[in-house]
Amino acid sequence: MSNKQTLSFQAEVAQLLHLVTHSLYSNQEIFLRELISNASDACDKLRFEALNNNALYEDAPNLEVRVSFDQAAKTLTITDNGIGMTAQEAIEHLGTIAKSGTKDFMGKLSGDQKADAQLIGQFGVGFYSGFIVADKITVESRRAGVAPEEGVRWTSGGTGDFEVEAITRAARGTSIILHLREEAEEYLNAWKLKSVIAKYSDHISLPILMEKEEWKDGELINPSDENGGRQPGGMVKTGEWETINKASALWTRPKKDITEEQYQEFYKAISHDHEAPLTWAHNRVEGNTEYTQLLYIPAKAPFDLWNRDKKAGVKLYVKRVFIMDDAEALMPTYLRFVKGVIDSADLPLNVSRELLQESRDVRSIREGSTKRVLSMLEDLAKHDKHEATAGDDGVTDVVDADDKAKEGKYTAFYSEFGSVLKEGLGEDFGNRERLAKLLRFPSTSSDTVSVSFADYKARMKEGQEAIYYITADTLAAAKNSPQLEVFKKKGIEVLLMTDRVDEWALNYLHDFDGTPLQSVAKGAVDLGKLQDEAEKKAAEEAAEAFKPLLAKLKEALKDKAEDVRVTTRLVDSPACLVVQDDGMSTQLARMLKQAGQQAPESKPVLEVNAEHALVKKLEGSVHFHDLAHILFDQALLAEGGLPADPAAYVKRVNALLA
Ligand code: ADP
Repeated sequence: MSNKQTLSFQAEVAQLLHLVTHSLYSNQEIFLRELISNASDACDKLRFEALNNNALYEDAPNLEVRVSFDQAAKTLTITDNGIGMTAQEAIEHLGTIAKSGTKDFMGKLSGDQKADAQLIGQFGVGFYSGFIVADKITVESRRAGVAPEEGVRWTSGGTGDFEVEAITRAARGTSIILHLREEAEEYLNAWKLKSVIAKYSDHISLPILMEKEEWKDGELINPSDENGGRQPGGMVKTGEWETINKASALWTRPKKDITEEQYQEFYKAISHDHEAPLTWAHNRVEGNTEYTQLLYIPAKAPFDLWNRDKKAGVKLYVKRVFIMDDAEALMPTYLRFVKGVIDSADLPLNVSRELLQESRDVRSIREGSTKRVLSMLEDLAKHDKHEATAGDDGVTDVVDADDKAKEGKYTAFYSEFGSVLKEGLGEDFGNRERLAKLLRFPSTSSDTVSVSFADYKARMKEGQEAIYYITADTLAAAKNSPQLEVFKKKGIEVLLMTDRVDEWALNYLHDFDGTPLQSVAKGAVDLGKLQDEAEKKAAEEAAEAFKPLLAKLKEALKDKAEDVRVTTRLVDSPACLVVQDDGMSTQLARMLKQAGQQAPESKPVLEVNAEHALVKKLEGSVHFHDLAHILFDQALLAEGGLPADPAAYVKRVNALLA
């Protein structure tokens, strides 16, 4: 590349830039955090590549970030001596967004500035946040290891396009030159910059340098500087650089030296989340393998949480050297929302992703970190509804402020991440029991998603031997399902499972603390001791008396139903569908089909209510055949399904109505 080239941004970038400049002005100063974080990443990458190629350090082995400003030119510059970019890399990395799910994300934007600003915060704008304060950005860069003539200058006004041209740049790394908007000129001030850096970037392990200033009147301090290096009566640059941050990685510092705010800012920097995390845990683990973990649970789900291929959010360091982002081997998939840092003292520096999968140290780190996350969640769950209670001594407990702060957090966590957590039942057998304790569901006794298996067990009726649940597409469908009728009549609580993953997840959980889980829509209803002798007897008699009718129904519906039998589970409805004990629920089968997947073709069992007027009418009816089909199709409709031939159903009903 020799001449200047003008190129267009990828459509998503242009859209994002528009939003950045129009919606994000309320928290301008984050741009500095984002750019310093990129600079720090670039240095991490250099350090990592240099493990195998020491020459990349050239003549500047000390990695650092320099922040400077020029009041006359109204520019603010952030320079790093990290990995740098080739022209091609600048075009790709600064002109397109490589993140998965970008299109989906853009589709979610509503045009409402406030709502969109929230979303963008979750998405993370990175480099583009520079345009919050700048109306033009110049990037000058040269990749480590390539010739000085292969530098690149990238320039853009942050609208539709950008320019690139070749330049010669002696220094390795990148300078981001922000041409500040008038409203952002406050950043042309050392004091302001230092305070923003202290707030957002103190945890960065690299030194961040700024040029020292001195108060001077008149005298020319730095004559080589064309701007005179001074402002009459103001601060004058001295040409000497000083480190303005602590320059030690946050997780390596003792807990007692780290404030809440620093923990939160660190989280925001590594996660690109604009909201504070719900909770975190910071520990040095010593044992078979030695490592430090700093793990965060976010308050809000990212827009692409549903993408199971989404990379986990834990960064791996080895002896403080950054090794990789998104080290999936360190965290199970169902905990992909966890963010943080793991710094191992034992892994080799040149560890690859492949090696990670096989390492025993990694396995033990993963187990330890999983347990840590579960105990954080258990702690939140325990304090979710903290009420002051009078203890044995008659003295009311004092709710301590720490516990108080945790109130409601588990509920908040669960509404964001509960569905993902459930995946753990199928993924992490070793922790299945702990996970089961963390699950919450609505039930026939509670509309809110708040009933745990333990709550349920504590409320079970005398003689009740199972935890009953029903799965359905929606809460309304679950609540009004005919299958619940007998449970309602007897006042037995049923858990309502309406989450897509419930059905799948419950395949892996057969009991809770010794009590079996029983779907009310699977197999024949078995209320065990909850059913009294008289009821049992009546049911058996009805079944006997109905035998001839059942045989006729079975024959009429042989293409649709596996079997037809009399049930005691219905009170108000004439019929319902159930699946065989070992069958896949009709709801799951429907979901699979909707997702375009193969579902085993299994026919449901039609159960009829011998007490129902419609069922009684069947015997001897001239419309027997039509009524039989209507009975079946209605049972299907009642559970949210569709008759195989809806038009035939309508015709039959209309014939009877007329
Ligand atoms: P993210 O950092 O989340 O990937 P950004 O939009 O902040 O997204 O940056 C896009 C890409 O541009 C980065 O992934 C990186 O490859 C490149 N980049 C940004 N800043 C620098 C820098 N200072 N040095 C080298 N590469 C950079």
